[in-house]
Amino acid sequence: MAIITYMAKIINVIKGTKDILPQDIEDWHRLEETALDVFSRYGYHEIRTPIFEATELFARGVGDTTDIVNKEMYTFEKSDRSLTLRPENTAGVVRSFIENGMSRLSAPVKLWYKGPMFRYERPQAGRQRQFHQVGIEMFGIKQPTADAEAILLAIEYLKALGLNDLEVELNSLGCPKCREEYKARIKEVLKPEFDNLCEDCQTRYEKNPLRLLDCKVESCQAIYAKPEIKAVIQSDFLCDECAQHYTQLKSYLNDTGVKYTENKLLVRGLDYYNRTVFEIKSNDLGAQNAVCGGGRYDSLVKNLGGEDTPAVGWAMGMERLNALLPHIETRKLDAFIVSNNSNEAFKLAQNLRAQGKNIEFDLSNKKFTKQLEKASKVAKFALILGEDEINADEVSVKNLETSEQITVKRNEVLSLI
Ligand code: ATP
Ligand code: MG
Repeated sequence: MAIITYMAKIINVIKGTKDILPQDIEDWHRLEETALDVFSRYGYHEIRTPIFEATELFARGVGDTTDIVNKEMYTFEKSDRSLTLRPENTAGVVRSFIENGMSRLSAPVKLWYKGPMFRYERPQAGRQRQFHQVGIEMFGIKQPTADAEAILLAIEYLKALGLNDLEVELNSLGCPKCREEYKARIKEVLKPEFDNLCEDCQTRYEKNPLRLLDCKVESCQAIYAKPEIKAVIQSDFLCDECAQHYTQLKSYLNDTGVKYTENKLLVRGLDYYNRTVFEIKSNDLGAQNAVCGGGRYDSLVKNLGGEDTPAVGWAMGMERLNALLPHIETRKLDAFIVSNNSNEAFKLAQNLRAQGKNIEFDLSNKKFTKQLEKASKVAKFALILGEDEINADEVSVKNLETSEQITVKRNEVLSLI
């Protein structure tokens, strides 16, 4: 007679999301611990804002002409409110800055964050729907020293992780005043090409012409590379103050040895930037090569209802950072206790754990040889508690790398592992 077993249907992880498994967690701890260490040295404090916010916060904060707001948000209704899983964390941090009266604190207010973000994008290498960012925001400083320090901090963090081979791209978008004229010039020169632009660019043409330059579609890039169009894109448009801000920023970067290239096509996907924008790219990442993006956003705090407060910030993609770094193997246990006497094993384990050691023993009381096999896989040392050892109040300590074994008094074990 056949035995029929019913297996419940497996439920899989959602497309574009990933489990971070124990064998990879040390890679994530490295990113987080290095962030805490390096950012603290620059006077930053961590902030943790909710993962969902009012949809309106992102519509107003990220900008309703952006791809993020138009196509990529996870929005849902609950009790007649429209809520959205955060696609980025700047808007949330600014909301918290305003709501908690942080403008009363003496400037600069320096905040950092880490955590999951959600964007409905096409999943591919380096692009997920739930991904993680680590980032900083600095409030209250209008001088280019703030822009420079923010960029230096990004580079220092990457260096501390062991990443040196990266390219910084820099641009200035000017202020709403001088940018207006530049936008008009770009619209003018692109007018004859309008029908050849991709659908998205045709929409952007009216709503947000600078975003045209950021288009990834090849036929659009070819248009922007035409000499007469390129000349307009490359032309100077910054007003005196914006030009001075940009020149000073570059002088700080030059003096601190930061290598960067200027890129007029760099406008960034978010609406809130003014003056400085920058990206850090790696040549080792393939198509999704940006690890860090940021810039100055002097109007955002006011737009979200706060006092006029200048600000700069950036965010890095943590999956992309991990893709550039060597994998860290999960740490082995300090010791695995091999014994068929659970009472004695418990006593020794609890004693060593209390002294800060990572210890396991076989809770199912398997054969000695099986326990030794397991020990050699998961631990640096095997602590053998056979009958002889127990009777003599001793432990045999086996170094599982060298196979050396010595027998010592129980109270001497701690000093050996
Ligand atoms: P991209 O041009 O790669 O889409 P972006 O301009 O949309 O980047 P930002 O909003 O500036 O990115 O976010 C900062 C960083 O977050 C990026 O440089 C990237 O490293 C990372 N990032 C953005 N979107 C994703 C995603 N969907 N999956 C993984 N990482 C992402
Ligand atoms: Mg994007």
